[in-house]
Amino acid sequence: MSSLPQVPGIEGAVVLERGKAKLFQDGNPLIYGGACRGVVGDEELSAGQEVLVVESSGTCIGRGVYNPHSQYRVRLLARADEKSFSMPFEELIRSRFRQAISVRGALGLGLGGSEEAPATTVYRLVNGEGDRLSGLIVDVIGDVVVIQSSALWVELNKTKIERALRDVLSERSLGLRDANTQFLWRQAGSRLRQDGAAEIGLDLSDSDGSSSSSSSPVEGEEGEEGSGSTLLEQQVVLENGVKYSTDPFAGQKTGFYADQRENRDMIRRLARGKSVLDAFCYTGGFSVNAMLGGAASVTAVDSSAKALEEVARNVELNGVDAGRVRVEKGDALAFMRGQIEEGAQFDIVICDPPKLAPKRSSLPKAVGKYTHINKLGMALTRSGGLFLTCTCSAAMTQQPEIFRAMLLDAARKAGVEVTILSTTGAASCHAVHPAYPQGAYLTAVLCSVTRPGEEDSHPQ
Ligand code: SAH
Repeated sequence: MSSLPQVPGIEGAVVLERGKAKLFQDGNPLIYGGACRGVVGDEELSAGQEVLVVESSGTCIGRGVYNPHSQYRVRLLARADEKSFSMPFEELIRSRFRQAISVRGALGLGLGGSEEAPATTVYRLVNGEGDRLSGLIVDVIGDVVVIQSSALWVELNKTKIERALRDVLSERSLGLRDANTQFLWRQAGSRLRQDGAAEIGLDLSDSDGSSSSSSSPVEGEEGEEGSGSTLLEQQVVLENGVKYSTDPFAGQKTGFYADQRENRDMIRRLARGKSVLDAFCYTGGFSVNAMLGGAASVTAVDSSAKALEEVARNVELNGVDAGRVRVEKGDALAFMRGQIEEGAQFDIVICDPPKLAPKRSSLPKAVGKYTHINKLGMALTRSGGLFLTCTCSAAMTQQPEIFRAMLLDAARKAGVEVTILSTTGAASCHAVHPAYPQGAYLTAVLCSVTRPGEEDSHPQ
């Protein structure tokens, strides 16, 4: 192993088992413990330490960060053939941020240097493995940059990562009003626990949550509301020109589900004259788009009182006729059952439940819940109407045959026939690397719903 390349700051090296290198050379950054034969020399490597990754033949294939406490023994940060391979750590991170920004620029998000005000000021700037920064997510939410960590190496390098991000953002105007830009850290607690947070004494307990500073993390498990009180004003952000009041300090996830941007736009284009049910509406993204697209009426349901306050604000911010928007707090399933009993029907039904299968092993149980929700949604869709059904369970998205089987089962139980009109995923700023398809988690399927006996009697 004497011929290993010299990279400043990297001392350790991990050797892979024979035949294991291909996947990682392709771009999957997560090197399992089982793929590693051992470390070079007898030096003990610590969590977060940078290492070279070496094939069993002795060829170096890249560099990454080591973690003895995680099933992901090494997270690859650069391949040996990349320019960034030989950069000092912080420069490598800067280079990845530059790449991520340029991709978003190509998508028309946060256009730099443009005189025009951007139409979208809320989007994902860095999507973990999809942007070759495994364990690190960055969302831009108006003037707030939310950095979410799900890996120990990120937690251990917060200062460097934030400095790199600040540097790169100040190089390019992203439509962020620099002086106002704030940085906020949040932690994906369950993933950090899996990555060995306890072993390095990382405090995942609720912080006071009141800090708007960069260095004080606000606990916010994915899909749950953060504990932060709001020191700052709500952010009013834009998505395709639609205004949203958001709370990156205490809202769910990073405060806004930017992943539904393109699906909301689809609903806007389909909604003219229609009655719409938006089940699991959160802050009303689909509802507001439907109204702006000319919907006759919208019913928005969610169990979170805080999210529903934002729906009302978003309706107002966009000049939508509040009289045609019905907002219901409560269990969406109970609400839908009640609507069925009353004989209600909607032209468009949207069901976007929270992640029901957080792990692959919980999918079989979750399928039953999805079936039930979908059955209710289909039963409420007028014959000839549209049903948009979503899952943000990665396990389901990665097994589309299970999603389709669930749809068939739900349709049978609802006594309807469905056809699939389109299948989409998360908005394009949620980059996915083809060598890491596990990065795709959201599926949205648009179905047409027909009731037997009413097949050819649909109004135009
Ligand atoms: N469609 C939304 C995102 C939905 S996220 C958007 O475009 O922004 C899932 C939502 O489901 C969350 O707002 C959560 O509060 C809500 N939720 C979870 N369980 C629920 C239940 N049983 N009934 C109603 N809403 C629920």
